Amino acid sequence: MAEPDADARRAGVRRAPPPFKPVEVRAVEPVTPRLTRVTLTGPDLEGYDGRDPAASARLLLPEHRSGQLVMVQWNGNEFLLPDGRRPAIRTFTPLTFDAASRSLDLEIVLHGAGRASDWARAAEPGAPAALSGPGRGYKIDADAPAFFLAGDETALPAIGQLLGRLPAGTPVEVHIEIGAADARTALDTHPSASVAWHDSAPDEPPGSALVSAVRVAEIVDGARIWAAGEAAAMQRIRRHLFEEREIARPLTTVRGYWKHGRAGDNGGGGGD
Ligand SMILES: Cc1cc2nc3c(=O)[nH]c(=O)nc-3n(C[C@H](O)[C@H](O)[C@H](O)COP(=O)(O)OP(=O)(O)OC[C@H]3O[C@@H](n4cnc5c(N)ncnc54)[C@H](O)[C@@H]3O)c2cc1C
Repeated sequence: MAEPDADARRAGVRRAPPPFKPVEVRAVEPVTPRLTRVTLTGPDLEGYDGRDPAASARLLLPEHRSGQLVMVQWNGNEFLLPDGRRPAIRTFTPLTFDAASRSLDLEIVLHGAGRASDWARAAEPGAPAALSGPGRGYKIDADAPAFFLAGDETALPAIGQLLGRLPAGTPVEVHIEIGAADARTALDTHPSASVAWHDSAPDEPPGSALVSAVRVAEIVDGARIWAAGEAAAMQRIRRHLFEEREIARPLTTVRGYWKHGRAGDNGGGGGD
């Protein structure tokens, strides 16, 4: 008998991702002038504890004008609003989960005009949203000789979480590109980490300073590499690691977190 997934694939139908669960804002707190921590809570918020770091959580935002949350339906290919419009769904890094209060922290970059960025800037306790996930995180190899982490401001929450989980005795080199000096956070949770901050080059595409830093870095043989940030910059980093350094792909995890000039969820879908 055919597997249900195989049947679905033949019919052009994708397996439904985890459903969205309603949540509300419990607290909003600035981490830096460019990063805001939003704590979300909801009775059905399960599965966010005990997961691997640098995972993903999909956030369904309320309607732009009314502030009301309209739940989405899976149509076999994507989530849509009941009237057929595409919803505003964005992906973030699930951080601390408090099982007692069923609440989850996200940290959202205030980067300028963007549905999630605007929402986080104005969010107040009680505001509705919905969460789906968590998605897969990063499997830490406890035997790795070293770790090399690189990212932009959107990767800061994941990098902070990784630093809290990587083996304390293993050296970690961290490179972060920031758009302004006040984007720096206290990344002091790993005793063997060295952190280098790189200012964005104003006339170059986002991620260029990070790409340059990775190009000249000394990467320990066998180090596990994790990088995330603007998609085109991540593509340049992938090419550099695989083609110029000839690093084996299984040692690397390089993820495009957002696309310059394109609004919407990284996994597709536009959103109003
Ligand atoms: C697995 C995963 C984890 C992520 N974790 C985080 C996280 O913890 N915190 C976080 O803030 N982001 C995170 N992101 C990135 C986040 O999903 C995107 O930045 C998202 O596009 C922001 O949505 P928005 O509605 O604010 O902007 P959009 O409406 O999507 O975009 C509007 C415009 O802003 C630009 N833009 C989008 N993001 C940025 C940015 N950061 N800097 C400058 N310009 C931008 C777009 O290119 C577009 O031109 C993660 C992404 C993934 C895939």
